[in-house]
Formats: sequence, structure tokens, C-alpha cells
Amino acid sequence: MNSVNVSLKSEITSDVDWGRIRSDFPILDLKIDGKPLAYLDNAASSQMPQFVIDRLVRYQTKQHANINRAVHYLSEVATQEYHDARCKLQQFINAHEDREVIFTSGTTDSINLVMQGYGRKFIKANDEIILTTLEHHSNIVPWQMLANEKGARIRVVPINDNGELEIGEYEKLFNERTKFVGLIHVSNALGTINPIKRMIDFAHRYDVPVLIDGAQGAPHMSIDVQALDCDFYAFSAHKLCGPTGVGILYGKAALLESMQPYKGGGDMIASVTFEETIYNTIPHKFEAGTPPIAAAIGFGAAIDYLTAIGLENIGAYESTLLDYATDCLVQIPGVKIIGTAKEKTAVISFTVDGVHPHDIGTILNQDGIAVRTGHHCAQPVMQRFNVPATSRASFAFYNNKTEVDALVAGIKTVQKVFL
Ligand code: PLP
Repeated sequence: MNSVNVSLKSEITSDVDWGRIRSDFPILDLKIDGKPLAYLDNAASSQMPQFVIDRLVRYQTKQHANINRAVHYLSEVATQEYHDARCKLQQFINAHEDREVIFTSGTTDSINLVMQGYGRKFIKANDEIILTTLEHHSNIVPWQMLANEKGARIRVVPINDNGELEIGEYEKLFNERTKFVGLIHVSNALGTINPIKRMIDFAHRYDVPVLIDGAQGAPHMSIDVQALDCDFYAFSAHKLCGPTGVGILYGKAALLESMQPYKGGGDMIASVTFEETIYNTIPHKFEAGTPPIAAAIGFGAAIDYLTAIGLENIGAYESTLLDYATDCLVQIPGVKIIGTAKEKTAVISFTVDGVHPHDIGTILNQDGIAVRTGHHCAQPVMQRFNVPATSRASFAFYNNKTEVDALVAGIKTVQKVFL
């Protein structure tokens, strides 16, 4: 594999040279107003290694054509590369078959596909959909739209003061009207890792399908959809060192086959007359029109890259950064960490007494530190903790302790400026 500073294959090891891995990411050499960039906004979007950038350039300069529709050389190459990318994603999540992987424009699109394709067909008046307080808006709003249309009801699993789901309350919500569960794997606002296997198993006792929003899960731990037995799993490439504009929906084949297509157009059909359209088989049934071919191929390269490092290695390294950053931040008077779950990814949401989060973000930016401030598209989480917004530092495997130290120094500067 070119340009990847690692020669490992998914085994936990302490030998990964994280400093060399960092040098795979050209953007990390940037200076912001003369200060070294500390990119701590990875939960919003991660950065791309040269390996993926090179793959995109190779596709655009030597392989680009539309897929599925022609017999000429370039179309055959592009079709094969696009298919290979699907197979890489299949292996990455251990799906049983490649046709269970549908390319979408991202997590939001994947969830909307399930709402439109499964929800609109199978959810009826008075049915109940279970969501959790931790959900990102993209796993709330589509279900609200559906509930309003159908006269269905949304039930919400509460969280405790650490930002962990109240699993007992989740189990109490089930009854004969429960028809669907939408569950975030890892909270983007707090970093909480939810016990999804246990929750999926419980839902299945009631024959209720479960959609996992894996936008923040897939980048940090290895995912085995067969072991999880989830019915749907969604994530976006741009949080896994890949390009924007592409993601996947995994769905069990039987469920996908039972669903209605969400979008109509080219490629999703077997035949069309003005009287009737026969739909194509999965996954094509859900991929109307020209798909994001280049982005999907780039996504495949990102999967190669991450797999070479090993998701277990990534998770273990990121958790050392989380521990270090947490230890540093709790020692700063006036700083409060929101979200203190036992099981967390490397996300730290925090407030600083007397300073608005947007001001924190602005001052940190002057020191080259990129954090996110706001409600993180998780307003119910903010409401639960009674804050309008937080500042959020989210770490990736290319971050290091020097950047944590820069964050700590930056927060102290914020306090000097405002207090
Ligand atoms: N779900 C979670 C947990 C997220 O963190 C995000 C993005 O931040 C999304 C869904 C939406 O992802 P996208 O904007 O790529 O569709």
C-alpha cells in the first residue's frame, strides 16, 4: 500500500508509530495565523491522508467515467472500482453480502432512506418509535416527520447525569405498539458509547427492527453487523478519513428487499413502461441516478487505510488521549466536562464558567485550535444538561498530547480574556 506509514493488519499492538502516521495527513502541517493547527473537530469531519487524496486523483485522472451503462474501457474500470469499494465496505463491517451495502450521500441520507423505505411502508397510526435523548437531529427529525404523517408516536429513552442511557427505562418502553428503534451508537455531543448489542437483542425479543446511527461509532471501533445483529447501520465517509458526499446504509438483505425505493430514476429499475416500473434488485434499487462514484472509491481507499492501522489500535490510542485530556481539563477551575460516561470515545464537551462557548471557540481559533461550539445537532442533549451550547474537542488517531496541551493553554487564555 502506498503512502501509509504502517504495515499492520488489524492486530492490537503498541508498535504503531503514531508520529509517522500523523505525517500522512498534509493538512496537519498548516499554520493558522502563524500558529500550528491543532485540529480537534474530528467528530464533525476527520482529515484525509495523502493515500486517499492520491486515490481520488488517480480516479479523476485515469479512471473516470459513468458506471453500469457502457461497454467502453473507462466505464468498465469505473464500474469495477465502484463495486470493489462496496466490497471493501462490506468487509469492513462484516456484512454477509455486498448487496447489503447501499451507497448514500451520508448518514443523514441513510437514515432518511430507512424512514422513507421502511417507515412509510410499515409504520402505521398509533405505532411507537423508540429514540434516545442522545440522538443527533438526523435520527430525530425524519422520524418526527414520519410520526406526524402517520399519527405514530415517538418514545424517548432518558439519560442520566453522566450522559448514559437509562437502559431500564428503555426496556420499559416496549409494548405491542413498538415498531421501530433508532439508536445512536456513540453520542457526537458527549462521546457516550451505548450498549447497542444488549439493546438490539432486547428489541428483537419484540421483533422490532433496530437502526444504528453509526456516524460516530464506525470511525473509532471495529463494527461487525452480523455479531451485532442490527437491522440497519449507517455512517459517513467524511468522518472516516474519506471524502464528503458519500456514506453507506447497511441493511439486512430481507429487510432491504421488503422496502420501497426512496428515490426513482436511472439504474434503480429493471424495466420501465408508462404503465409500470419493475425495480432493480438491491442494492441498485436504492441507488437512483449517477452515484458519487469518485467519493465511493475514495471511501474504499479510506477503509484500506484505516484497516491497515487497525481499528483496535485506533480506539486504544484515542482512549489514551481522552484520559490525558480529561485529566488536564478537570484540573482547570471553572471548566466543567459535560458527559462523563464510563464508556466514551475521545470526545470532550465542556463549558467554562462565565464564558459563552462561541467566545471560547473564537479565542481558541486565534491560537490555531479548531474545536466545535454549539448544540452539535443534539439540542435534546443540551436541554437535558440545561446548557444552550458546549465547546467540544474531539480527537482522532493523528492528534497528540502536544495538541491537548495547546487546548489547555488556550482555555486558560480564554479565562484570562473573559474573567
Ligand atoms: N449522526 C451523528 C451521530 C453524527 O455525528 C452526524 C454528523 O455529525 C450525523 C448523524 C450526520 O452525518 P452526515 O452529516 O454526514 O449525514
